[in-house]
Amino acid sequence: MLNLDFHPSGRHFLQIPGPSPVPDRILRAMSLPTIDHRGPEFGALGLTLLDKIKKVFKTENPVIIYPASGTGAWEAALSNALSPGDRVLMFETGHFATLWQKMALRLGLEPEFIGLPGYDGWRQGVQADMIETRLREDHDQRIKAVCVVHNETSTGVTSDIAAVRRAIDAASHPALLLVDTISGLACADYRHDEWGVDVTISGSQKGLMLPPGISFNALSDKAIEASRHSTMPKSFWAWDEILEANQNGYWPYTPSTNLLYGLNEALDMLLEEGLDHVLARHERWAAGVRRAVEAWGLEIQCQDPAVYSPVLTGVVVPEGVDADEVRKLIYERFDLSLGTGLGKAKGKMFRIGHLGDCNDLTLIATLGGCEAGMELAGVPLAGSGVTAALDYFAHHPLHDYR
Ligand SMILES: *Cc1c(COP(=O)(O)O)cnc(C)c1O
Repeated sequence: MLNLDFHPSGRHFLQIPGPSPVPDRILRAMSLPTIDHRGPEFGALGLTLLDKIKKVFKTENPVIIYPASGTGAWEAALSNALSPGDRVLMFETGHFATLWQKMALRLGLEPEFIGLPGYDGWRQGVQADMIETRLREDHDQRIKAVCVVHNETSTGVTSDIAAVRRAIDAASHPALLLVDTISGLACADYRHDEWGVDVTISGSQKGLMLPPGISFNALSDKAIEASRHSTMPKSFWAWDEILEANQNGYWPYTPSTNLLYGLNEALDMLLEEGLDHVLARHERWAAGVRRAVEAWGLEIQCQDPAVYSPVLTGVVVPEGVDADEVRKLIYERFDLSLGTGLGKAKGKMFRIGHLGDCNDLTLIATLGGCEAGMELAGVPLAGSGVTAALDYFAHHPLHDYR
């Protein structure tokens, strides 16, 4: 039905925490003709990409690229590194941690899902001390892997992965460390090698600014060694054949050629700008958006300032308000998409994405849509978040963040 109040002219504001807006430069790169994925031109592209992608993960080790969404790369990590019946220690930080745990169950693993009691775990980061305590009790070392989500996209919490590494080491436990940074990569600080991560899982449509459709496993020597003994059935996901073909810049099957053009462009953009600069931009945007939420007099979903996410901010609506009704109104009136509350957070909050290809004024417009929408929905606001964020951006230039 024609809605005459809806004027979808100009650009849609895609401010969900992934997929994020795709820059024109990437769209143009992807519009080039598809080439022969077994030809010489492709091999050269493959080698370049496989080298450049390592810089973003901060690793010297191989990074596998799958023609799949992030969920595929989750499955790849579990099915290459582990065997049916293996116990894995997973930490409940939110909806994505919960989905990964469900996948582990479906794959025949024995996930042990620990976390803070009640809803608290959905407002805090991974508690490394709880992981250490559990690993110390595991005298016969039945736990084969610790699995954590770095940037929990359902809540806006970025956990301290170095602390999880220290916890595993302090317990002198040989478990592998598997980390999901599907939404954290290229927005939040991430160091695969330095933090001793065995498998890092990421995806294309969040910080990397690409459309959905490709995903990653960054490996370690220990993970590759573990995969040699893994008895989990797998074929499409198997690291060995991909690593072999990747030696010459190819894949065992047809890769997502045009998404790889886009990836090449995205990596050039990120590396030309400098990763430190990219991370600083995200920290600053997140700080500005939090000023807005504070000015509205609303709560931020993340309750621990040490783990505020630079990628997105969860905004808790007052009791009695359905956050999804507010989101719907904002979408219909202002052509602005915000993230829904997922799982246990459904209806209680909405999520503002501030990742990838944003700038101060796209975020001010986003906050403007939120503010007007909440007012129209009758949500009592203490003050103007738009004014607070604009003031913050005006007086906190990016170089303060370097
Ligand atoms: C988006 C996301 C996923 C799922 O990735 P898909 O590309 O939707 O399959 C998993 N974990 C986190 C933290 C995510 O943000």
